[in-house]
Amino acid sequence: MDQKFVLPGDEVAIAEMFSPGAGTYEENGVIYASNTGHVVFNERDRVVWVQPVTSVPQLPRRGDKILARVTDIRSNMVLLDMLRKEGSTRQLGCTKHATLHVSEITKKYTRSPTQLFGEDDIVRCQVIKHKPVVFVTTSADDLGIIHSDCGYCAVPLVMGEKGLECSECERSFKRYLANDYGRVHMPL
Ligand SMILES: [Zn+2]
Repeated sequence: MDQKFVLPGDEVAIAEMFSPGAGTYEENGVIYASNTGHVVFNERDRVVWVQPVTSVPQLPRRGDKILARVTDIRSNMVLLDMLRKEGSTRQLGCTKHATLHVSEITKKYTRSPTQLFGEDDIVRCQVIKHKPVVFVTTSADDLGIIHSDCGYCAVPLVMGEKGLECSECERSFKRYLANDYGRVHMPL
């Protein structure tokens, strides 16, 4: 696909047609690039973002907010693969693995994460320790799951009266959600 190359300040799209994603900002109904890179249109979600051209690897640091995918759920921890820093479309240039210990899920006592997370859920978490291995927390309102698919039907779960619900099989799920669940648009 032919992708338009833009510099910061270049016009990317009209805000009527698309929402501004990573690497863009909106002003007076027009979406402009805030990064140098290639314009990517997500037609399904009507979001546009700018994929940076730089290949300098990003390393997670303490305090960084990271988007990560759940790979395993144990009795006392959740294992994640870090995808990228929040607001960035660049891959993290490091070990991908992060650990969320059960005591760091929420301020409340949690006995086990098995009912709060599902495999392949996308989680916004914050780095609390990055050496020698990455440990993260989800103990804040804006942290937690931001995207989850039904494990049976592979369609995105939506907020309903009983928690997360699948529109296909009508199963409901209880999960540990960020306060903007379902409203985050980004390249996953
Ligand atoms: Zn389902």
